[in-house]
Amino acid sequence: MIDNTFIQKNKTLLEQEKAHLQKLLSRVEDKSGAPKYPDFGSTEDDNAAEVAAYEANIAEDYDLEKKLKFVTEALARIAAGSYGICEIGGEEISTARLEAVPEAANCVDHEPRQI
Ligand SMILES: [Zn+2]
Repeated sequence: MIDNTFIQKNKTLLEQEKAHLQKLLSRVEDKSGAPKYPDFGSTEDDNAAEVAAYEANIAEDYDLEKKLKFVTEALARIAAGSYGICEIGGEEISTARLEAVPEAANCVDHEPRQI
């Protein structure tokens, strides 16, 4: 069952994850908030590699943003006292699931997205 000790443990994990994600996002973004455009060189191969890296950065950036959003929402649920309650069905999410996915907002049966 979800007790206070369990919630505090996951809160620590989520805060660490949030700090980690923010650090990663500050690395892939420049000051304008856009992913950095890498400069490998000026040959055609270099330019193709730059485009591939740029696209990978955008994809990475998007995943990190999404994950950060889930983590931030989970911390908000802890603050609101609704952590560990399935947002769709209203039942308690199993501790096994919350250990595997601390930011989970739904039980396995009501999982609308892959985390
Ligand atoms: Zn549910």
